[in-house]
Amino acid sequence: MHSLSMQEKKLAEGLQELSDQAGSHSPSIHTIAEKLPDLNIEIDACFLSNPHATDLFTREMRNDLIKTGDLRKVLEFYPSQNQVIGEILAPCLGVPKEMIFVGNGATEIIQAVIHYFTFRKVIINLPTFSPYYEFVGPDVETVYNHFLQEEDFAFNLEEYIDLVKRERPDTIVLINPNNPTGGYIPLHDIEELVRRLDFVENIVIDESFIHFAFEDESYPLKTATHLANAYDNVIIIKSMSKDFGIAGIRAGYGVMHEDKVAGLLENGYLWNLSGLAEYFFRLYADEEFLRRYEEVRVRYIKDTQRFFAQLAELPGLKVYPSKANFVLAEITNGMTAFDFMSRMLIKHGVYVRDCNDKMGLDGEFVRIASRTDEENRVILESARQVLQSQEESELTAVS
Ligand SMILES: *Cc1c(COP(=O)(O)O)cnc(C)c1O
Repeated sequence: MHSLSMQEKKLAEGLQELSDQAGSHSPSIHTIAEKLPDLNIEIDACFLSNPHATDLFTREMRNDLIKTGDLRKVLEFYPSQNQVIGEILAPCLGVPKEMIFVGNGATEIIQAVIHYFTFRKVIINLPTFSPYYEFVGPDVETVYNHFLQEEDFAFNLEEYIDLVKRERPDTIVLINPNNPTGGYIPLHDIEELVRRLDFVENIVIDESFIHFAFEDESYPLKTATHLANAYDNVIIIKSMSKDFGIAGIRAGYGVMHEDKVAGLLENGYLWNLSGLAEYFFRLYADEEFLRRYEEVRVRYIKDTQRFFAQLAELPGLKVYPSKANFVLAEITNGMTAFDFMSRMLIKHGVYVRDCNDKMGLDGEFVRIASRTDEENRVILESARQVLQSQEESELTAVS
């Protein structure tokens, strides 16, 4: 990296150390700010949230809780129990309250489902969101289904069904749209898959990014939640962190057969949601709030898809098809993903995800999240310059 100054090189080494320590999740923006105070992080394109939804939520919260003084009640008293919040959510999810299990973030639900319902064998697609395989117990066999780079990491329905029939697992996991590829499985295919795989005890469908997916230009929500009503083996898992931009609150829910919910509640989870998460879920069940949210959801999808199209035009970057709010991109001009990430951060203050540690990704991949329109312009221009610096350094090396 010859075009970095001494100080910039030091920062790059510091980043390398932090990345090595962080394991399967990238170092958080807090860790970086604390350990490398000289770094100026201006745009976090590593974290996958809709910034307009965060604006909307904080505005609501200011009006409902802060201006009124009701925040004190939220902090002073116990929140409602798991099933009470399920009851609040039942009408808007269209399932009975007995089928709803709320979690301190979806991660808690993933952990519960994998620990309590998976006994023999699980099929996990790669690349994936790492907790799915990290939480698998020592007595459970994990079979990996590799999405192929030459097929743009797409899901192949027939091949997948064949694999499941051959392997006979008790649990399968589909993340739709997938993290970190952004690949999307149309609702029609999900329905067919569920119909044909009735022998699998647990069909986990993680819809943490479903609010960003669409099948036509009117952008209706394509959730598979209704399938849990019709099929006892379907488990929907939903994080609210990304689409509502509220990861700090820790709010997620699962929709599954009532015996499964009852089984989980026997193991605890009584007051696992905070008062703020309860406040959020009450908003989520409110039609008026949802109307306002719908506006920022659709606007963000449009901005995001435009941003992806612009990124795809940059020389040196291959962008894979995505219906999430991030893209998986491959650096194709000889620069490593780490060099790209660290230059974006050190020179431009833009933090992107180096996917080096992602199982099932072989090559130089980064994941870039869509932010506000203004921030996306900065991300785009920074990426252009960083990729160009590689071309220039190769020219120097030749001459
Ligand atoms: C981020 C993420 C989650 C977990 O989100 P929580 O913050 O724990 O609610 C779950 N599934 C996928 C696919 C994710 O990307």
